[in-house]
Amino acid sequence: MVDESDLAPALHRSRFNCPACDEVADQVWFNAYASPVANPAGVPLRIAGADLERLGKNPQFPPEVREQKVEYWNRVNGGEVFLDRWAPTQSELFVAGLEISVCRACLAAAIWMGGERVTRDET
Ligand SMILES: [Zn+2]
Repeated sequence: MVDESDLAPALHRSRFNCPACDEVADQVWFNAYASPVANPAGVPLRIAGADLERLGKNPQFPPEVREQKVEYWNRVNGGEVFLDRWAPTQSELFVAGLEISVCRACLAAAIWMGGERVTRDET
């Protein structure tokens, strides 16, 4: 019988102790592909502060869409990393050495670089 209490997250496991929800749960692994940032400014897009407030009131979108957009940006601005449906894209730029694992129990995403799970500095 496998002792599941010591299933530390690791690149070679499809089931491990999720650092986000602390459950031993199945993990889905993803490769990453890169596509250039399409923002006219040429830098990653972030909507926050007064701009996010304006977006939350933009009559161009139905209320539920505004809510979704505000929730999305609040998560991104809060430092969360997650999978999200976006416009379909095609890229032949494979990000070698970077993988993403997603917990089936809590849907939290973990980023792996060089075979190691990326953790935030606890300062
Ligand atoms: Zn989890």
